[in-house]
Amino acid sequence: MVLLGAVGNLQVRENMKRIYLDHAATTPMRHEVVEAMLPFLRERFGNPSTLYSYGQEAKKAIDGAREKVAQVMNANSSEIVFTSGGTESDNFAISGVAWANQKRGNHIITSSIEHHAVLNICKFLERRGFEVTYLPVDNHGLVSPDDVKKAVRKDTILISIMHANNEIGTIEPVEEIGKIAKEEGIYFHTDSVQTFGHIPIDVNMLNVDLLSASAHKLYGPKGVGCLYIRKGVKIVPFLYGGAQENKRRASTENVAGIVGFGKAAELAIKEMEEEGNRLILLRDRLIKEILEKISFTRLNGHTTKRLPGNVNICVEFVEGESMILQLDINGICASSGSACTSNVIEPSHVLLAIGIPPAVAQGSLRFTLGRDNTNKDIDYLLEILPAVVERLRAMSPLYQRIK
Ligand SMILES: *Cc1c(COP(=O)(O)O)cnc(C)c1O
Repeated sequence: MVLLGAVGNLQVRENMKRIYLDHAATTPMRHEVVEAMLPFLRERFGNPSTLYSYGQEAKKAIDGAREKVAQVMNANSSEIVFTSGGTESDNFAISGVAWANQKRGNHIITSSIEHHAVLNICKFLERRGFEVTYLPVDNHGLVSPDDVKKAVRKDTILISIMHANNEIGTIEPVEEIGKIAKEEGIYFHTDSVQTFGHIPIDVNMLNVDLLSASAHKLYGPKGVGCLYIRKGVKIVPFLYGGAQENKRRASTENVAGIVGFGKAAELAIKEMEEEGNRLILLRDRLIKEILEKISFTRLNGHTTKRLPGNVNICVEFVEGESMILQLDINGICASSGSACTSNVIEPSHVLLAIGIPPAVAQGSLRFTLGRDNTNKDIDYLLEILPAVVERLRAMSPLYQRIK
């Protein structure tokens, strides 16, 4: 097993064609977003907490961005708290609700396929006396609302189930889970980082009390995100200090980042439907042709309850990392497992949870498509990938025996 960080293909020719197929890891900022941010990185540098016009201009810009971000999920802008990104939003939601509702109970329900930003704060809380139920998923990666209902106890204070999984793209039945949470009087948080600005979200229809989003997954800047907190939810602040963000998250605001997030949200709403439909066509073509062209491959995740741009497959008898490096040499950026775990040798916790044997899970590939991708990119990938797989399999004694 080679570690990506230790090898890398820095010798990749500078002018070669590069195709980016890792939009679930991060997205490039749109030029409209950069343009919207620039004044706040230059002359409009005021602190939003100050009374003179410099500060008030910045404050106005933040308020405008808050409106736009709220619109994406049909929330009230007063229910949006800007954070440093998806990880902080997940940590804030889960630990904030846990600490504020300790007197009511100490039980949390989540799933075994959450992002580490959810799983690892849950593990921390377990060491501090909370109890956490990690629900299993079926072989498509779906959480069963029935399982959620059965897991509810008298002392359950929070349910946290992601809207869509970042690795296999499965879209969870959050509306049904939200209904259960509401009936039982339990707070419901969803990690919406992969869906925000990509598929329709309505916090009221989904019965969500808390929702996490991150700007850099929708063509906005890195280091900024938000947490939706429904009015009336009992939660402790994430940072203590000044009165920013309704005293829930002190510190001088990341004005330019927030403005960029707002711009990205505004553009995402406008283009969501058309872009979603376009990506679904590209996605389904890529899935179909990979499965046809390369033997011993399987699709991970659900065929239709799936993020528009997500393709995740297992290629048997090949290691994911080797394929990633070979694709990189050919100018293609893809991922094996999730970016956050790609320096770790263990196979992805998500693939194991859907029942993929560890040896097969090692050969996983994730392509996540985005705005700049076209059928031409898919053509090129479909030309390169089968040859890469064939070359690597030629070195696999196991494959040679089976063939
Ligand atoms: C990317 C991601 C996160 C983390 O967001 P950051 O802004 O990078 O901290 C959390 N959850 C999911 C599902 C993600 O895809």
